[in-house]
Order: sequence, then structure tokens, then C-alpha cells
Amino acid sequence: MDDDTQHTLRRWLTGPRFTSLPVRDASHPVPLLSFEFSPPRTEAAEHQLWTCIERLGPLGPRFVSVTYGAGGSTRERTHGTVARLAKETTLVPAAHLTCVGATKEEVNEVARQYWDAGVRHIVALRGDPPPGTDYAPHPGGYAYAADLVAGLRAIAPFEISVGAYPETHPAAISPTDDLDALKRKLDAGATRAITQYFFDTDVYLRFLDRCLAAGIKAPVVPGIMPVSNFAQIARFSAMCGASVPDWLGRMFEGTENEPELRRMIGMVVAAEQVRLLQANGVDEFHFYTLNRPELTFAIAHVLGCRAA
Ligand SMILES: Cc1cc2nc3c(=O)[nH]c(=O)nc-3n(C[C@H](O)[C@H](O)[C@H](O)COP(=O)(O)OP(=O)(O)OC[C@H]3O[C@@H](n4cnc5c(N)ncnc54)[C@H](O)[C@@H]3O)c2cc1C
Repeated sequence: MDDDTQHTLRRWLTGPRFTSLPVRDASHPVPLLSFEFSPPRTEAAEHQLWTCIERLGPLGPRFVSVTYGAGGSTRERTHGTVARLAKETTLVPAAHLTCVGATKEEVNEVARQYWDAGVRHIVALRGDPPPGTDYAPHPGGYAYAADLVAGLRAIAPFEISVGAYPETHPAAISPTDDLDALKRKLDAGATRAITQYFFDTDVYLRFLDRCLAAGIKAPVVPGIMPVSNFAQIARFSAMCGASVPDWLGRMFEGTENEPELRRMIGMVVAAEQVRLLQANGVDEFHFYTLNRPELTFAIAHVLGCRAA
């Protein structure tokens, strides 16, 4: 062996050792999945959404949810998409509903319409104020998501999911206040929290510890954001308070003009993340699909899910 080879091996052998992630066998339950879509704006987007639903539906998600545009701006389109899911598919639809900028009566009316359309699951959120302004509750409205949850409970026995923030909601007074707010939403009748997406798995696992210590018993399901357009995610993350680790930026460096390469990298990043979560015992996942099926489908496959 020459000196160079010896030097290389010494370097390889003196670093920290990591064992492999546990292998999933038949004794492990297949994870429970949910998929989030956004309501389409155009005919082409509508086609893309339904292609996405057709591809992901056979994976048997527990529910599929449809977002509500800022300030209720997609009210009709969200309702149309959710109602169509309820009517034309066997999937369980969940409608996102926000209370920002609306009276209680307006919000209650939307909720009643969902119930009448056969929709039994609401993802209840406060929503965000218009960009550049601070949040102020509507004088006749639900002030926070916990109030909305209580209001929905009074309308009908909806299943209710709420949002959670492993890195703390950007407008929260403190992490403890934010955790209290999450607990209030669950105490008001929500049965599940879905997290804002995160890229540092350790942040999420520490958040679970804090939830448990705060007496939260409901599942706090990780929201997984498969990244294929890094620049877009970096911009969005700055607004919603999700941090983008340096290592993620480095992985996507130089890929601006290579969409296929970006997708492959996005796949590796997300697969690593979900496998690590799975190795830590997490067996429920919520995917922000961005109405694009392929990354989510591939990651679900890696998790052990198969199309029926
Ligand atoms: C899974 C998920 C899905 C989402 N889907 C949508 C969507 O479809 N449409 C959309 O517009 N937005 C959506 N959002 C974004 C969400 O609307 C924003 O993050 C919003 O700023 C907070 O909503 P929330 O329901 O978590 O609010 P809340 O739980 O009400 O909390 C909002 C802030 O107020 C604080 N707070 C809570 N209660 C009180 C109180 N009593 N006094 C003082 N402060 C209080 C909290 O600490 C937090 O800082 C989603 C977020 C998540 C995590």
C-alpha cells in the first residue's frame, strides 16, 4: 500500500460511524398518508390537479385536503374541488378553512355548505393578513384558530385538523405561547395537528418532545414538502417561518437550469427525511404535493406504500 492510500483509509476510518437506517419489514405498519392540493386557477391547472389525484389516489390516503387561498380568495374554487372529490371519488376530502377577514356567520355558512355537500373533515386555520400588514381579528369574526375550532364543533361533528409549527409560528409571542395556542386548538376539539414543513428533522423531533411535555396527546403529523424548485421554496420559506438549512441550498447549487436534476435531488432529500422520521417511529405523513404527483408518489413508495 502506498502512502496516499494509507492516508485515505485512515481518513475514512477515523470519522464518526453511522449505522444504516433500520430496514422496514412486513411487521411494520404501512404508514398513513394524507395529501394536500390547492384549488386550480385555470383549465390547464384543473387538468394537472386531477391527473395528480388519479396518480396519488390509489395509494389509499387517509384523506386529501384542499387549501383555502389567502383571505378566503379561493372560496368557490376550494368548495368546487372538495365537493367534486366528495361526489366523484372514493377519497375522503378535507377542506381547509380560514377565519381571517370574515365574520363568524360567513365562516359558519361555508362550513354548513361543506357539511351539506358530505364533507366531514375541516383543516381549521386562522389564515394570514394581507402582505405587509399585521394580523387583527375581524370585529365580528373568530379571532384565532382555536375559536374557529370551537365554532365548527358547534355546527356539526366535523373531524378537525389544525396547523402546528415546529419552528414556532413567526408571529408568536414565544415558543411556549405558540405551544399553548396549539394545545387550545386541540382542547377545543381538533383531533390532529399537521405541521408546517421543516427540513431539519431534529427540530421536529424536539418539537414532539415539547408537545408531549405540554400534555398534547393527539398526533402531530409531519408536513413533508418535496422540493423540486429550490428558489421558489426558499422564497416561500422566508414568508412562513420555515428555515432553509445551508446544506439544502448547497445541494441545489448550480441546478437552476436543470429541472430533472433538481427533481432527483429533491427525491433524495425527501426520502432521507421520511426514512429518518420512520426510523424514529413516525408512521403518519402529510404531503404538500403542490399538485405534482411524481415526487410524492416516489417518496410514498420508499415508505412502503403501494398503489391498490
Ligand atoms: C398544515 C397547514 C395548512 C395551512 N393551510 C392554509 C390554507 O389553506 N390557507 C391559508 O390561508 N393558510 C394556510 N396555512 C397557513 C396559516 O393560515 C398561517 O400559518 C397562519 O398565520 C396561522 O394559522 P393558524 O391556524 O396556525 O393560527 P393560530 O393557531 O390562530 O395562531 C396564529 C398565531 O397567533 C398566536 N395565537 C393563537 N392564539 C392566540 C391568542 N389567544 N392570543 C394571542 N395570540 C394567539 C399563535 O401563537 C400564532 O402566532 C396553513 C398552515 C399549516 C401549518
